[in-house]
Amino acid sequence: MKLRLYDTYSRSLREFEPLKPEDVGMYTCGPTVYDYAHIGNLRTYIFEDLLRRVLVLNGYNVQHVMNITDVGHLTSDADEGEDRMEKGSRRTGMTAWEIAELYTREFKQDLQRLNILEPTVWCRATDHIAEQIALIQCIEEKGFTYRTSDGIYFDTSKLPDYGYLGRLDIEGLQAGVRIEVGEKHHPTDFALWKFSPAGQKRQMEWDSPWGVGFPGWHIECSAMSAKYLGPFFDIHCGGEDHISVHHTNEIAQTQACHGTRLANFWMHGYFLQIDEARMGKSVGNFLRVQTLIDQGYDPLAWRMFCLNAHYRAKLNFTWDGLDGAATSLDRLRSSAYEWGEPGTVDGEFREKFFENVNDDLNMPRAMALTWELVKGDLPDDTKKATILFFDQVLGLRLAEWQPAEVAIPEEIIIQVNQRQQARLEKRWKDADALRDQVVTAGFEIEDTPQGPRVKPKKVKVE
Ligand code: AMP
Ligand code: ZN
Repeated sequence: MKLRLYDTYSRSLREFEPLKPEDVGMYTCGPTVYDYAHIGNLRTYIFEDLLRRVLVLNGYNVQHVMNITDVGHLTSDADEGEDRMEKGSRRTGMTAWEIAELYTREFKQDLQRLNILEPTVWCRATDHIAEQIALIQCIEEKGFTYRTSDGIYFDTSKLPDYGYLGRLDIEGLQAGVRIEVGEKHHPTDFALWKFSPAGQKRQMEWDSPWGVGFPGWHIECSAMSAKYLGPFFDIHCGGEDHISVHHTNEIAQTQACHGTRLANFWMHGYFLQIDEARMGKSVGNFLRVQTLIDQGYDPLAWRMFCLNAHYRAKLNFTWDGLDGAATSLDRLRSSAYEWGEPGTVDGEFREKFFENVNDDLNMPRAMALTWELVKGDLPDDTKKATILFFDQVLGLRLAEWQPAEVAIPEEIIIQVNQRQQARLEKRWKDADALRDQVVTAGFEIEDTPQGPRVKPKKVKVE
């Protein structure tokens, strides 16, 4: 079955065809590194990882680019307020550069803990100032910019289909007199370059043809995606909040300079909520992967939790739900472990798996299929090979997992030895009674030529 993906731009499911045969260019908006990522942010990165793994399963080479926003993202998405990095610097007493370094490292560790594949290219906004300036110059030459006292702005009224991605009601927005436009000509106009405030030395600032300052938040993604993937590539993704502002503005910039809508497919992951409200850094309901680890959870239980929902559905976090995901993960792991060495992948299951994941990443159905495999009656080695095939997408590290060495309690060892003694003395009744005691305590005895071996009882999967 051919891969079909939901494209936000056309609001439809479309068959995926790469622009160049076999190679797929994919750009995912990365983190703003002024604080830790929360598990909501990471839900979006898990969705993008699943997408990438499905593309690979379909035989494509994926060139995956992710940016690190380390400058220019202000506390308000409307180009007002303080730079989040400089604010974080005041909060922590570290420099903006140190903060970027710290939270980038933490972010990469979270990706690893969730078995999210590393992008093929990481790119930092502050390493690409020249590319951003060049792009703003291009947009300026094409006549899309104006200057105010605090920066260079993009004139959105010059682009006839501005706001198409978000189906924005531009006239409604213009009529909304309550919106503060300040010196902006239209409420949807946005900053391409901001000047450093007069008399104030920012930690992060650069010279430019317009004056000392720093790039606006949206320009980095248009500049860096063009550098690494070209001005029109296959798939651009991010969280649903990016549709109406950030991605809309990325498209406007790229359209103004290169005349393209940047990407052939636009894909968006829906939000994680907690108590039916958005999980956000400012809301204070913010859980990190580390929080889950501190509560005794394996980080992959979070990945498992996300696999149970479709990426285009909002997902509500609950601790009960996480417990359920952790239990399911344990069951999958111990089953896969006990199946031993892999044989060959079952053809029918393989085909059904493709049908599910190629249907716009229908992971809930792929998980249901996985449980069908676990509970079914195929030979163990077939099950093992098949689940490892699935795990190329699920990413639950099923091939690596091993049960922790469980210590056998002293009293069990004594009972096993007494049983062995009883057997040697042919006191069969005593031997059986001792065996029953050991089994009731959750262990089993295997009699080998070297003597009895005791181990924890296998977990039974109903
Ligand atoms: P940020 O670091 O704020 O730029 O966000 C990083 C990514 O997480 C972006 O793709 C956002 O769209 C996404 N995101 C932010 N909040 C949530 C949430 N509650 N659930 C899912 N994704 C989110
Ligand atoms: Zn972006």
